[in-house]
Amino acid sequence: MADKNLNYQQTFLRSKLQAVSNGIKKSATEFLLPQAYKEIWQRGEEYVDWKTVKPVGSNEAKIKAAVRGKKDEYIVILEFTKAGIAKQCNCAYSQGGPPSRPACKHMVATAIFWDEKRGLSRPSKKDIGLYTIAPPSISRQSIISLFKNPLRADLDKIRILVEYSSWSPQPHSRLPNSPKIVSSLRRPLKASEIKKALAEMERWSKRSLYDPYFCAGEMSAAFCELLDVVKKRLAVSKPKDVILIMALLVDWFYKKFNKITDCSEGVWIFPPVRIGSLVSTLLRKYPREPVWQNFRQIVKSAGAAAGVRGLDEKGVAGWVNERLRKSAVV
Ligand SMILES: [Zn+2]
Repeated sequence: MADKNLNYQQTFLRSKLQAVSNGIKKSATEFLLPQAYKEIWQRGEEYVDWKTVKPVGSNEAKIKAAVRGKKDEYIVILEFTKAGIAKQCNCAYSQGGPPSRPACKHMVATAIFWDEKRGLSRPSKKDIGLYTIAPPSISRQSIISLFKNPLRADLDKIRILVEYSSWSPQPHSRLPNSPKIVSSLRRPLKASEIKKALAEMERWSKRSLYDPYFCAGEMSAAFCELLDVVKKRLAVSKPKDVILIMALLVDWFYKKFNKITDCSEGVWIFPPVRIGSLVSTLLRKYPREPVWQNFRQIVKSAGAAAGVRGLDEKGVAGWVNERLRKSAVV
């Protein structure tokens, strides 16, 4: 399916580039179509029809427009390049990714607006079906292997797992891969920056298209990315600080992560396995660190709030065990 789609897209782009070299007007929508998901394209169409696009300036080669969203106004810039089209938008969906990131609805709306202004019609329903990005696919076998070894699971697969498992994926907010955090190996960890990163993830759940079920994989993967940064910076950090940070992360897992996500597809498993592995490393290295006392108090009350009794550092370290892995196999 993905290959077929790619072929369509290549033929489509080639024919468009040919049309351009023959002196035919360039079409922004035709360049953007193979860079957008179908649901996003349809939302972009609605935006144009609701007259939310206001041009700030445009010519044959470039447009700058303000697009009104539900809450804010976003600035989109589209510009024809030799190879196709350069695109920019300051909305959350478009931030933090590579330039090859799929187009957002504001870009789609601007492209349709710009084309129509220049007398070019928008793509047909058939073209939208054929040329938009094929939905991601992931094999049953690779899902099983994700859960078999959750500590080594490919985070990109976790991100799309729920979409694959669902019969009718719904449009939902695309989350950043990771909250902002310094990944430098030489910087000692501070609780304040972890708190900031966790607060950022909580803000993602307030986005208008955030869906606790369909965004669960991305939320779980982002939490894992944060835990991987903690792991990388462990060696240069004070044991006392890291142990308290781990308590903070367990607390967040119970009190926030479980509330803002619906992990019925099992994607909840990945962060705690990482937490367990980190805590067991710390227990081995610093078994007599007095701050374990504080750790125990924090996780005990977090666990109690979630209905889990007797939670302590050994229990958390055990999260990485076979028992937890087995319970998650689908
Ligand atoms: Zn946008």
